[in-house]
Amino acid sequence: MKKQFKAEVIAVGTELLLGQIANTNAQWISQQLALYGINVFNHVAVGDNLTRVADTFKQAHERSDIIIVTGGLGPTEDDLTREAFQLVSNLNMYEHAPSMSKIESFFIRHEWKMTPNNRRQARVFETAKVLENKNGMAPGMIVDYRDRHWIFLPGVPREMKKLFSDDILPFLYQLTGKEEVIKSTILKFIGIGESALEHELQELIHQQTNPTIAPLATDEGIIIRLTAKAASSDELEKLLHKTKEDILEKVGNYFVAENEETIEQVIVNMMKDKKVSIAAAESLTGGKFTEKLVSVQGASDAVKGGIVCYHPQVKIDMLHIPEQVIAEDGTVSEKCALLLAKNVREKLNTEIGISFTGVAGPGEIEGKSAGTVYIGLSVAGVEDRAFGFNFQGERNIIRNRSVNKGLEILFNYLKA
Ligand code: ATP
Ligand code: MG
Repeated sequence: MKKQFKAEVIAVGTELLLGQIANTNAQWISQQLALYGINVFNHVAVGDNLTRVADTFKQAHERSDIIIVTGGLGPTEDDLTREAFQLVSNLNMYEHAPSMSKIESFFIRHEWKMTPNNRRQARVFETAKVLENKNGMAPGMIVDYRDRHWIFLPGVPREMKKLFSDDILPFLYQLTGKEEVIKSTILKFIGIGESALEHELQELIHQQTNPTIAPLATDEGIIIRLTAKAASSDELEKLLHKTKEDILEKVGNYFVAENEETIEQVIVNMMKDKKVSIAAAESLTGGKFTEKLVSVQGASDAVKGGIVCYHPQVKIDMLHIPEQVIAEDGTVSEKCALLLAKNVREKLNTEIGISFTGVAGPGEIEGKSAGTVYIGLSVAGVEDRAFGFNFQGERNIIRNRSVNKGLEILFNYLKA
């Protein structure tokens, strides 16, 4: 039987204990280790104090096989990770020449004067495997010491993640003797809630163990993460493909994008394919909808622009909403949404017009409660439609939900 490793993640930094930052390093590292089937038994956070860090290290050495330490490798007085491990291990340190010349050339390149404490960052343990930090200065280290595998990584998440993916994962891969490959893929959905999606896929989720199927609600909408393990990449792709097909057979109507691809990218590409352009009249969303579309590279072929018509007078002056409509129906109404969509389309000379008007809250407007939102869709020579919603949540959640709903309405129209 293969050895079952016990892993422990230690985060060094007083900011963590003061609650100034969350220990996202431990979360991320644990997710990675889980993929490799390595059990994490302890998360520890400890302040920048030599004795306490050393005590934490002693305890970890007693109970864990793989100990991953993040933070405290920098140049300043409160970066004490090396000193603490030296107290525990008595290992000697030396100045690692390649790391030092990298630090020196950084200062030369920026024409900054290097203070002597920067040399601290280049010190490594005599038996360490030194790992180049491609996103920063302080190198990472793997130190095999008395039957334990000690891994030291910088605290800055961007630096830590890069080192972990490039050097630590292959190391663990060898250590655990895994012959498997692992891969995750993400499927993105729109227009279906998390519980409805889970309900549709209930049987599949229960029957299926490889890949695992994990639905998740995110700010961008509902996603499913598939994670597969296999002996070869070919087999891996087959497993993922087959499960994806099974899922799409049930909820394919709501599927929009995969992995890095975003919903707004898909929408912009659909508009380009159909050779149609869009303009938006945005009241409560204040330009957020247009911003989403414009974030897509090459959006200019499909997105002409929009008008932020937050104040009623702007709706009247710029988008020709009759004062009578505002007096009788209100700005938060189906009629106003319809006219805004139609008029912005005509004014900007596009095929599609979309509009957002509603109560972001917390207070009421025109006797309508926070979360009341109307979205209008006007398509030249086809039809004008308006949809009413009652979103829950605080002001900016309501505004985001409105944008997401607008994307959904547009996606459904384009795909029909
Ligand atoms: P540096 O060379 O920048 O000093 P370091 O290895 O000494 O790096 P720290 O000084 O402990 O690391 O942390 C640097 C920054 O990285 C912190 O200010 C914090 O923003 C972030 N950070 C550190 N530890 C964590 C953690 N456990 N989770 C998330 N972010 C962290
Ligand atoms: Mg530091």
